[in-house]
Formats: sequence, structure tokens, C-alpha cells
Amino acid sequence: MSNDPFLLDVREPLQAVGVPHHVTTTGDAPVRLGGEMLGVAEGTPVEVVADLTNLGESLLVDATVHARVTGQCSRCLNQLDVEHSLHISDVFGMTPDFIGGDEAEEGEEPLMVEEDRVDITQLLVDEAGLTLPFNPVCEDYGLECNDAIPAPDGISGEETVVDPRWAGLAGKLDEVAEDTEDTAGTAGTATDTDKDA
Ligand SMILES: [Zn+2]
Repeated sequence: MSNDPFLLDVREPLQAVGVPHHVTTTGDAPVRLGGEMLGVAEGTPVEVVADLTNLGESLLVDATVHARVTGQCSRCLNQLDVEHSLHISDVFGMTPDFIGGDEAEEGEEPLMVEEDRVDITQLLVDEAGLTLPFNPVCEDYGLECNDAIPAPDGISGEETVVDPRWAGLAGKLDEVAEDTEDTAGTAGTATDTDKDA
């Protein structure tokens, strides 16, 4: 675990208040980020670019993770393999009596600096869960779906069913057409014209 890219060393940033420290780490993702259909697989090489700022009682961690996300298009099952970035920004407490704002209200454990390090793993797991689509499709990534798209159940059939009201109207139109033809035919004969006059 010594090479965990999501475990950031904060010894230097903690030495001066208000000065952002730029930190870059690389390594393999220790956990999967994202859902079943699309995500950063465990073991994928990632790069973390972070700014760590000592705010006095807490440490602001602003980090962007660059990694490949892989998965499948939920429509045509094409393989997806794209560059993706995840961004997180949160504060970690430095003292045991630090109470994180949002976290404390939700009854969760406040984020803490522990052993001169911050662990952004859970923040990234949450962010990936929120931002990566559960049902990714090719067009989300500038790709086109395979032509042979299986029609989803129950949709292809509905389009060919004629509305009963239109079906009735269509029948009436046929009758009108037949009447017109009869009239035209009758008017055309000399005998009928004499009878009418
Ligand atoms: Zn597709």
C-alpha cells in the first residue's frame, strides 16, 4: 500500500498556513471507481494532481484524478475505453475536535488528516458513483453505436400498431372513394343522363 496514489502525504503542506502545495502522485487504483457498466478498474494506472492548502484547522484538498475508464455501451455493447478525469474538493480536519460541516450533519465520520496523510479514496469512489453514467452509450464519448442494435423489448412493436380511431377513418375513406367511382361511372352513360333530365 506504500504506492497508493490516493494516499497523499501532507507533511509539507502542513508547515505553512495558506500556501497551496502542488502534489502529483501516480500508481495503480487500489479500488474500482464507478459502476458495473463503466468505471476505473482496480489496478488501472492513475495520476493524481492535487493542491493541498493548510487552512489553519483543516486542510483543503483539491484533486483531479486522470485515468482510463473502461466499460460497455449499454445500447450496442461496444467496448468503451476513454480518458476520464474525476475531481474532488474537500476539507480534512487536523485536530480530533474538528467537525466537518456537511459530513457531521449527515452523521458521517468527518474527514481527518491521519499520520501526516489524507486518504481521498472514499471521496473518489463517491464522485465516480455520482458522475459516471450507469447506462453509458457510445455517443456520450463521441462514438457511434453498432448498426445492429437489438430493438428494446416492447418498443418496436408499438410503432406499427394503428390507432383504432385512425383505422375506422381509413375504412370510411375507402367507402367514399368507392362511391365517387360509382357516381362517375353512372354519369358517364348517356341513358342515365336522360333519365335524370
Ligand atoms: Zn453503443
